Amino acid sequence: MKKLFYGICLVFWGICFAAAPREVRADDFYYPPDTDGELVIVIDPGHGGSNTGAIYNDYLEKEMNMTVAEAMKEELEKYEGVTVYLTHDSPDTDMTIQSRADFANSVHADFLFCLHFNMSVENILFGSEVWISAFGEENRQGYRFGCVQMETMADMGLYLRGVKTKLNERGTDYYGILRFCEEYDIPAALIEHCHIDHENDAGFCDSEEDLISFGIADATSAAKFFGLHSDILGVDYSDYPTRETDSQTLYMQADTSDPDICMIETSYTDLDRSVVGIALTACDYDSPMLYYAYSIDGGTTYTPYLAWPDSDVCGNTTPDSFVFEIEVPEGVSPMVKVKAVNQYDRYTESNLLDGLPVFVKPVEELLPPEQEETLESVSSGNASPLPSDGFHAPQKTETVRENKSFFGFLMICFFVVCILFMALLITNLIMAGKKRQKRKERKRK
Ligand SMILES: [Zn+2]
Repeated sequence: MKKLFYGICLVFWGICFAAAPREVRADDFYYPPDTDGELVIVIDPGHGGSNTGAIYNDYLEKEMNMTVAEAMKEELEKYEGVTVYLTHDSPDTDMTIQSRADFANSVHADFLFCLHFNMSVENILFGSEVWISAFGEENRQGYRFGCVQMETMADMGLYLRGVKTKLNERGTDYYGILRFCEEYDIPAALIEHCHIDHENDAGFCDSEEDLISFGIADATSAAKFFGLHSDILGVDYSDYPTRETDSQTLYMQADTSDPDICMIETSYTDLDRSVVGIALTACDYDSPMLYYAYSIDGGTTYTPYLAWPDSDVCGNTTPDSFVFEIEVPEGVSPMVKVKAVNQYDRYTESNLLDGLPVFVKPVEELLPPEQEETLESVSSGNASPLPSDGFHAPQKTETVRENKSFFGFLMICFFVVCILFMALLITNLIMAGKKRQKRKERKRK
């Protein structure tokens, strides 16, 4: 019955997907960037002056953006036929968004790269993303560059949040730099390198070397996008293979709806390992899935966001379903719920899975012989690591219990010896008394 319900839901989703009105094929529109034989690139370090950008721990975004921008400019200038400008060259410069676009227009920019670092309200998001204009040629150029940039960020080891558009209430581009550049017909990309407030990303941006690496990576993406070559670097990207345009789908509008389906089923329960396998099926016909989180208390508290396995934000091959394992604490009967999160950070909660068994490990399995051996080898100075399966506490308790019972055995032995000794003493006294009586009787006779 449950499977029939899921089947109907999937068919419904299939129909919705087939009827989705928003997609536009990139190969219907794409043609190479027109640079008039001379390429002018403008790099805009995000924020500046009193507009600090994100602040988290020791991170100050306006300074980070400037370091990346300078490194990107230096790297790009190693390629032939490129002129590179920064919109401003100090993190303390106050500059309006409009004047940044005005500057790009004044130098006849072929493309503007706006550099940023990200931070989320609840510190739960991680990964790298590119924002582009939702309109016309700026959308198409931006999308093509964005996909190259996503490949570069993936090579660095970052999680990908995709190439996206966002509109304001007036129906124009939400980000001012993209809106103003679009008005000047300048393709632009706003790069959010990573999230400074998430442990998954912090390691990518916590030193000057890391920031310089981002600058070099951004320059490499741009060089690949424009098909540049450099004698200094010994690279030639003039034949750089771009992604198959057939598989590219452009989203002309931001996805403002929650994922369409999110369902869970129990795949298996394993009491020996205290885990339950959950089969999750979730999808959104507007955008790929990006994260999931689960709850074992019926949705009151959730884990941090986890990466969606094999998520592919540019290739549209993100899987709709997979099985994942939940480790259940001793004595808990889990009530499982899952949140599935799409590329625009909108989520849908799944059905509730309850009626699962209370996870208690069978008593006889608390102390398997091989684990006892491990404990012995550790205590005798052997460095073999303890298995991290969460069952050390019961093992140690069992060893303490064993020690206690051995002590009890010694005590019983001691008591038995005492009783035997007392019995011997009493027997001797009785015998001595009898002897004394016999002697008295003999004297009387
Ligand atoms: Zn920023």
